[in-house]
Amino acid sequence: MPETALPETLDEDRHYPLDLHMHSTASDGALPPSEVVRLCAQRGLQHMALTDHDTMAGVAEAQQAAERLDISILPGCELSTRWSGVGIHVVALMPQGVQGALVEGLVHQRQARIARAEVIAHQLEKLGLPDALAKARAQAGGERPLGRPDFARALVAAGMARDWADAFKRYLGSGKKGDVKAQWPEISQATEWIVASGGVAVIAHPLRYRLTRRKRGLLMDAFVEAGGQAVELVNGQQNADATRDLARQLVERGLYASLGSDFHFSGGHAAPGSMSLVPRTAAPPIWQHPLLAEHFNVPNEPDIKGE
Ligand code: AMP
Ligand code: MN
Ligand code: MN
Ligand code: MN
Repeated sequence: MPETALPETLDEDRHYPLDLHMHSTASDGALPPSEVVRLCAQRGLQHMALTDHDTMAGVAEAQQAAERLDISILPGCELSTRWSGVGIHVVALMPQGVQGALVEGLVHQRQARIARAEVIAHQLEKLGLPDALAKARAQAGGERPLGRPDFARALVAAGMARDWADAFKRYLGSGKKGDVKAQWPEISQATEWIVASGGVAVIAHPLRYRLTRRKRGLLMDAFVEAGGQAVELVNGQQNADATRDLARQLVERGLYASLGSDFHFSGGHAAPGSMSLVPRTAAPPIWQHPLLAEHFNVPNEPDIKGE
């Protein structure tokens, strides 16, 4: 099987065969980790990171599935954090797996998510959804800590929202009663966990926080100050002009450029690897980061015999 090396620079407008931001049933995705991996391999991706919300519980299953396929897995997760009162997500790319300060960090995130679910449930009960916690748990199935999508489903099932989007718009989205952030760590804290554990910290979907360009710059400055190394230049589908402008903000700060689809379920807007075009930019690609270069440069050797 031909191994195409990833280029050293992003010097043309194009797509790349990798996806470093995806979800599985370990958090709010629809497919089990092994099926996310299979789908990625089927779509011709060479590298992927599984980045479930505040957990790395799906990574071992993903790695096992990848052993039989021509795709490499970078362990990861997406941490919920706060900056200046805004909820900001930070993707952790962990070439050495979960270790060091991030182990305790993920314990904290799990407890924070459990405590947050109780506060969200209390808020929704006041708004007319009795037994909100039990209803969200029933929607989630399994044992994983609850997320806002589980409450969104419960609101729809109770007839309080037309669909998911409506549930977020009215109850769970930014600024609404169910948008509870108080439990999350400061972005500097989460970034320190990642960096101290041999990982690369990446600001997730920087264009989705409704920040002005200037505020987005301040966020990046605070992130760099805390040791953060990269930003998602492309996350899912983006406006091309906004992406080029974002690239300039990365270049100004020496930040590496990452890319991911933010895949959650099939049939949605984002299939694995189906992000917008990566623009030509002087920002270095994430696979050139010294902590990740070895991971990305080792050719995959699938366990398939007889080729
Ligand atoms: P949580 O991690 O519990 O805060 O939940 C956030 C997740 O909810 C995101 O990762 C998305 O998967 C989903 N989400 C956030 N905003 C919306 C929205 N407006 N419509 C639908 N899903 C959303
Ligand atoms: Mn999600
Ligand atoms: Mn996110
Ligand atoms: Mn995500």
